[in-house]
Amino acid sequence: MVEKFFSGNIELSDDKGRVSVASSENAMYGAPQQNRPPPIMPARVYPPACRCIYCGSERYSTGKTRVRGTEHIVANGLNGTWLLPEASCQRCERITCKDEAKVLRGFMHGIRLKGRFKTNSGWPDELPLFLSDGRKVKVHIDDYLYNLMLLDFEAPSILTGAEEGTAVRNVLMSVHEFDWEKLAAKYGIFGNPITPRVDQEAFNRVLAKIAHAYTVAELGLDNFEAVLPSRILDRTDALRRYVGGGAEYPPPASDNLHEVEIEPRSPDHDWIIVRIRLLAYYATPIYRVVSGRWLDQTEAPTNSEG
Ligand SMILES: [Zn+2]
Repeated sequence: MVEKFFSGNIELSDDKGRVSVASSENAMYGAPQQNRPPPIMPARVYPPACRCIYCGSERYSTGKTRVRGTEHIVANGLNGTWLLPEASCQRCERITCKDEAKVLRGFMHGIRLKGRFKTNSGWPDELPLFLSDGRKVKVHIDDYLYNLMLLDFEAPSILTGAEEGTAVRNVLMSVHEFDWEKLAAKYGIFGNPITPRVDQEAFNRVLAKIAHAYTVAELGLDNFEAVLPSRILDRTDALRRYVGGGAEYPPPASDNLHEVEIEPRSPDHDWIIVRIRLLAYYATPIYRVVSGRWLDQTEAPTNSEG
């Protein structure tokens, strides 16, 4: 059973420290509780890209002959197993890894801990919980809050013609295995203990990275007109128009860990749209990210099953 415990606001932050607040009054979302371990994502290795898929560099770094880094299309920290070899230079790798770290150690930390997803250093015995009254309490990982909190967007505004960034339609949250009595007795934590914060800009860039890397993997770097790399690297708000959602909601949970696929080419426009559903087995929202334009000779992939 899913407990609906959160009825306040969720803070959306960005790199410049600006914080906006999204109301969650109508945002409760009861994903079915999944106590089983996360499903395995079948491994897939794509042909090497042979140059950095973000900046085009053919070398890993100045003065080094080492081959370019392998890109995990979905981050290793989310148990992503789809690999695009020789696809990132060191500089771009640092930028995309920084964004992933903000998301994986930020608002996705709890759910990764619950599933004991991969980490570089292993999971510690305790993790800090930052309470809305300003306290920081160390909580044993077996007692930790396993909430899952995800933004649900309108369609990408580049598709709708809206000038501003894509609007947040909802904030989705589900709470799992939450023992109020134990938290009160053992840690002195009462009531609504946390003010969740989602780093929306970092999350946008993580989704954009997945969309771009996946499009390169499926179509090939030279077979479409990419629009995301500069917007990932220059870290401006411009990316907001390309990341969104607007798909039917909520469709039933699947048995897959993550689902990524390219939408069939639309007769109405020439944008390429990548559908991304992270942690699909939790009945999560579907993101739709515009990754580029079809070229006339581009053939849609026949098998892009997640
Ligand atoms: Zn690069």
